[in-house]
Amino acid sequence: MRRREVLNLLGALPVGGLSAAAGEHSVLLGNPADKLKLVVRDSGQPGPLYFVPHDDENIAVRAVERWWQSRPSGVLIELQQTGRRYIYQHLGGRRLWCDPNRMYSEPRVVAAQITALRPKCAVVPPAAASFGPTDLDLAGTHFARIGAQVLATLGEWLGRSYGPLVGLHNNTDGSLNVRSVFKRSEKPAVYRATGADPDDFFLVTEAGDFDALRTLGFNVVLQPARIADDGSLSVWAARNRVRYFNVEAQHRDCLDYDRARGHLDYQTRMLRALESLL
Ligand SMILES: [Zn+2]
Repeated sequence: MRRREVLNLLGALPVGGLSAAAGEHSVLLGNPADKLKLVVRDSGQPGPLYFVPHDDENIAVRAVERWWQSRPSGVLIELQQTGRRYIYQHLGGRRLWCDPNRMYSEPRVVAAQITALRPKCAVVPPAAASFGPTDLDLAGTHFARIGAQVLATLGEWLGRSYGPLVGLHNNTDGSLNVRSVFKRSEKPAVYRATGADPDDFFLVTEAGDFDALRTLGFNVVLQPARIADDGSLSVWAARNRVRYFNVEAQHRDCLDYDRARGHLDYQTRMLRALESLL
């Protein structure tokens, strides 16, 4: 089922659905011709500010849609462009790419993250060698400006008492888990729940939320207080004292509902647990 159909279905729900309140609008970002946008869906009820930065992480979106069938609350903001993980902009006649969860900082930091992208992500097709320092400066500045545009939209909702800020993500089996998200040298506090898939976990920035989620029996990692700025939203949130959760579950790229079902169920449970803390 496509998202539009899901929305229509939700709109038809008689009680507690999104019928009257499900406002949706878009905010264009960066170069208009590149069609990068935020899609904002307001449940009409105050609650969490859900943000999905990666356009290929659809199970996270479905988890909110499903959760809203029983309890609409907060606002869901998705960054959309190609349906892929990274976003692009045409700069100087070329298509340059950036991770949309690595652009919430100053241009220098964002530029460093662009150079760190894996080569297979084709940062600068076709010839990386032709990508000079000036291009990198240009890209760092441009994507940092897009990051600021996203933060301005998120800030609007935070200013209207929506919150906390909740980043929603999906990963692939074994690629990222509650123990690997930070380096051991950064000494994060980690709780590994018995029986839970280590790929399904919360990342939080406040110790009280770490304790509460551990008590509820979820995998959870507390972002270390002293951590290098990598342009990610969790680091931005900690530096700006914005209460932040990352809800991470397996099955990025997976549009096969049956294969993803277990993790969709689990991510929906995670949302329910998160809202029980508010
Ligand atoms: Zn993600």
